[in-house]
Amino acid sequence: MCNSKLLDGKVAIITGCNRGIGRAILELFIEQGAIVYAVARSQGSLSCLEGGQNFIPVYMDVTNNNHVKDLFVKIKKEQNRLDILVNNAGIMKDALIGMISRSQIEETYAVNVFAVIDMMQYASKFFKRQSSGSIINLASIMGTHGNVGQSLYSSSKGAVVALTKSAAKELASSGIRVNAIAPGAIDTDMLRSIGEENINKLLKGIHAGKLGTPIEIAYTALFLASDLSKYVTGQVIGVDGAMIV
Ligand code: NDP
Repeated sequence: MCNSKLLDGKVAIITGCNRGIGRAILELFIEQGAIVYAVARSQGSLSCLEGGQNFIPVYMDVTNNNHVKDLFVKIKKEQNRLDILVNNAGIMKDALIGMISRSQIEETYAVNVFAVIDMMQYASKFFKRQSSGSIINLASIMGTHGNVGQSLYSSSKGAVVALTKSAAKELASSGIRVNAIAPGAIDTDMLRSIGEENINKLLKGIHAGKLGTPIEIAYTALFLASDLSKYVTGQVIGVDGAMIV
């Protein structure tokens, strides 16, 4: 019987780790042997995990390019390699067309799109040198199917889908895999922000009859991060309890 873990010794970055889906991915990756640079925006928000093995908290804002650059310099110095990038940090601002403000557009795209491109560019430099690496972007079923009141959010996630596919084609010959996860309705603060009534409406369209949980997304991230998915790239994997089929 082999006792090795799926991510033994792999160096990973996960953004938006202090809660929700990112937190579940962080805990699972550590359990599976990865050395994780855990990115969280709010200082001290990862304190309950601090001191743990293979866990390096990095408090930064993903929209600040200087912070992003410093993160990669730190990893180069401390590990001189990187194996996995999970672009999980995201925000959702709902507004009907005609009511979307310029600042909402800028804020949403800064986190959900521009930061993802920045992180991918820096990570791919490591990955090219090693001829290996896995990038996992958190998209959304809203990015593939759209929703009323979510033109802004869904368009930003649609950009993540397109980015994932183009980057997968461009980087495949360098041994780099790029995939996206498109969660349905997952029980986190982000989903709870739409209110009980809207969640009940959503539930009617979920054939599994229940909301997803962060760990159910984390298992898919683990598959995409590990060698179990060695020949999988350019895919957008729906994890949505048959909300969209
Ligand atoms: P949460 O709102 O629960 O958590 C979002 C995380 O992103 C938080 O840790 C937050 O940090 C972090 N974050 C936001 N902005 C920044 C920033 N500028 N710099 C660093 N970190 C930042 O979201 P979920 O866990 O629900 O979502 C995770 C991802 O999954 C997102 O990309 C989301 O769009 C996607 N998704 C979620 C779905 C769901 O139903 N929950 C469905 C489809 C997709 P802080 O605590 O400091 O705010």
